[in-house]
Amino acid sequence: MSGSNEPRIAGRHFLQIPGPSPVPDRILKAMSMQVIDHRGPEFQKLGKRVLDGIKTIFKTKSPVIIYPASGTGAWEAALINTMSPGDKVLMYETGHFASLWKSMAEKIGIEPEFLESDWRSGVEANRIEERLRADTNHEIKAVCVVHNETSTGATSRIDEVRAAIDAAGHPALLMVDTISGLASADYRHDEWGVDVTVSGSQKGLMLPPGISFNAISEKALEVSKSAKLPKLFWSWEEMLPHNANGFFPYTPATNLLYGLDEAINMLHQEGLDSVFARHIRHGEAARKAVATWGLEILCQVERYHSPVLTGVVMPEGHDADNFRKLVLENFDMSLGTGLSKVAGKVFRIGHLGDINDLTLIGALAGVEMGLGLAGVPHSKGGVQAAMDHLAATAPSK
Ligand code: PLP
Repeated sequence: MSGSNEPRIAGRHFLQIPGPSPVPDRILKAMSMQVIDHRGPEFQKLGKRVLDGIKTIFKTKSPVIIYPASGTGAWEAALINTMSPGDKVLMYETGHFASLWKSMAEKIGIEPEFLESDWRSGVEANRIEERLRADTNHEIKAVCVVHNETSTGATSRIDEVRAAIDAAGHPALLMVDTISGLASADYRHDEWGVDVTVSGSQKGLMLPPGISFNAISEKALEVSKSAKLPKLFWSWEEMLPHNANGFFPYTPATNLLYGLDEAINMLHQEGLDSVFARHIRHGEAARKAVATWGLEILCQVERYHSPVLTGVVMPEGHDADNFRKLVLENFDMSLGTGLSKVAGKVFRIGHLGDINDLTLIGALAGVEMGLGLAGVPHSKGGVQAAMDHLAATAPSK
């Protein structure tokens, strides 16, 4: 940092947490433009472009609301635009973030029912179907799930959750948090019949933190007209008429929207399918490294393994945060900490956003060296296993 008395650290910092993810130079440059009049014609063009463009990332034809807020704000917006005081919602404990969304629901005056789990898997859709079948009076107004649980590294199957709701013949809304899934893992708002999708800027979209989203279905919009929780800043009804002309009812985060415009271009230039395939390969390579080290992956069910991050369980008697501290001090790399229930027991390797094969190998090398320095029992060769996988699956092979 300039002006600091600390010695300079050469090279770039490895930001390998599961978001915020590193911001590409193209996006930094796009955001460095002068601020413009957010009620003027130049802004209107930008507003229309990003409000249209972001739909292609959520894969929806319906409106996507953009808030100047972190993901937590968009969580709140999803609930208060659709629910009334005392409404029941069904939520699923995939991990820390699902738990936070549930406690938010309690605080804003709705009644979540939590399907509990051990944080080592994704959403088991049959449990949702079973609960909804028992709700013959249709008291449950929404099913809320986290697509990519960032605290554990489990990616749930939203198509299966949709199918479960349909199989139960239940009218509940489907609300999905894909704050860390969007633009890294395949996501299809319309095709999967999601009513409200919540996301944020600082993960797969490769932007700094600061904007977040609600993609909304026609059904959600209809429900919102009679929802009675108080709202103003988050109100879809206030936002949508302005958005129709490319504007916002209050001052938008203009420079983040410049960045969003560029991020959308970059994602389409690479191709969304290639973006998803890249993340899948990187997830596979990271898990091969972890398996070779002889360490345990937090998510135990293979079909839910996340392409976004890998949660690694520390062997008994070794503190994950001490290990992370050693890695930061020695190799200038930030790894994700274990959150709440798994604090000190787990570290997380983020492999999302603007990451290529060599970035991933560098990150895994930092982990392998760190395990040695921290005296964590492990077998060598994890990086080699990851390299072998990446070479064997190189896209232009
Ligand atoms: N949900 C998930 C899955 C997340 O990963 C996060 C943040 O990491 C949040 C919600 C909260 O978002 P924010 O920290 O942007 O408010």
